[in-house]
Amino acid sequence: MKHSEYYVTDENIISNIVEKQKRYFYEQKTKSKAVRVQALKDLQSMIKSNEEVIMEALKKDLNKSEIEAYASEIGILLEEIRFTLKHLDGWMKSKKAKTVMTHIGSKGYIIPEPYGVTLIIAPWNYPFQLAISPLIGAIAAGNTAIIKPSELTPNVSRVMEELLAKTFDPSFVTVIEGAVETTQILLKQPLDYIFFTGSVNVGKVIMQEAGKQLIPVTLELGGKSPCIVHRDANVELAAKRIMFGKSMNAGQTCVAPDYLLVHKDVKVQLIAQLQKAVTQFYGEDVLTSGRYGRIVSERHFDRLIEFLQDGKVVIGGNYNEETLQIAPTVLDEVKWDSSVMQDEIFGPILPLIEYESVDEVVSAVHQKAKPLALYLFSESEEVQQQIINTVSFGGGCINDTIMHLATPHLPFGGVGESGIGQYHGEASFKTFSHFKSVLKQTTKFDFAFKYPSDNQSLKTIKK
Ligand code: NAD
Repeated sequence: MKHSEYYVTDENIISNIVEKQKRYFYEQKTKSKAVRVQALKDLQSMIKSNEEVIMEALKKDLNKSEIEAYASEIGILLEEIRFTLKHLDGWMKSKKAKTVMTHIGSKGYIIPEPYGVTLIIAPWNYPFQLAISPLIGAIAAGNTAIIKPSELTPNVSRVMEELLAKTFDPSFVTVIEGAVETTQILLKQPLDYIFFTGSVNVGKVIMQEAGKQLIPVTLELGGKSPCIVHRDANVELAAKRIMFGKSMNAGQTCVAPDYLLVHKDVKVQLIAQLQKAVTQFYGEDVLTSGRYGRIVSERHFDRLIEFLQDGKVVIGGNYNEETLQIAPTVLDEVKWDSSVMQDEIFGPILPLIEYESVDEVVSAVHQKAKPLALYLFSESEEVQQQIINTVSFGGGCINDTIMHLATPHLPFGGVGESGIGQYHGEASFKTFSHFKSVLKQTTKFDFAFKYPSDNQSLKTIKK
């Protein structure tokens, strides 16, 4: 990886930025409702008036088409800001708590307060959205923020740095570009919160580093998200929705269906419908359609090409080394112990495994780490309940893929190896807030029973 001139690797510069943000925070400059609302509106107009610049950078880094870039990186953020502005007043309010008998005369309050200086570490697959979406929560909750974007999407990182520098005082919100070295320096700083989106392995590093200072973390990670197609599914619709979720951003989506578990009775039909969906979305030649993304780097391209050996290619299989594109590919006759079934695929390759009973599916999924997402296509309420009630996963859909992520009404996050914590909508506000409990005691009277001098105290308390 070449070292960009924009990387910040000087420890003094980084600790200076953190120090300035601390001061800004302690000067109470981020906390009022008026400041939060104004900052969110500034962010909103920054995005709206630079849509084309952002989409251009996404095209250069990932060959994202306009429609995909708008829907998954811009529109979703504008909706999140709109939702946050609408509800912020209610979220910010202190809540009164009930008083127990022994506390009569006092009042209890739960007060949301910002943590302080937050660090947002973003991945490359939705490089704009996954940096700005947590930022909305950080600002809404009254924090300052430092964004460390991914080094694999340099055009988006540059645009983000320039736009945020024009919009915010760096003591409030700033971008620090860099790779591992920069992140390591950042992690040594006296931060108040770390919000990380990325791989499971790096998530472990982040948590370990944060643990040294007991800095609270949110970890938005990945994993192998199963997609189950039961015998009674609407197969045509299922195929379309599965292919939509798998081919978006060329499969480089944290909640993309990773592998297919298909009831043996509908396998042949499903493969035919998946092929139909590919043709419908991208025409006869996906790679030249102009609507299909590319793999982010040569290293990831080579890793993905290896998986084509792991089964029988029944759809796609073609690729272009020059453009780093791989067509949506379905692999049949895949074994559980093959390499494509070990780690998250993170590309447009979809292995397919047949099953006969739902119990078989449940026990197969339980053999693996708890997934970030799970998708089930079935018309049966009983099958839906069985899967939802027996399998643990971050979130998911019945009869759709990835759409649960695109609504501020549903908290989004993983469980077990797929992550810790949740965000989007109110969950973002809560993630970036500490809920401080305060008991305000009366001075009008006092109870003797709580003091050691009261002989009757045990009797009174037990009453
Ligand atoms: P990554 O873990 O390689 O990198 C994420 C960030 O961590 C980058 O900013 C990178 O610079 C930094 N980083 C990398 N190595 C580091 C190290 N040793 N020490 C400190 N920082 C380091 O992830 P990625 O390849 O950018 O993204 C792909 C992964 O992210 C996939 O596993 C995917 O599932 C996951 N993901 C999860 C979500 C979610 O919301 N849960 C969303 C998108 C991606």
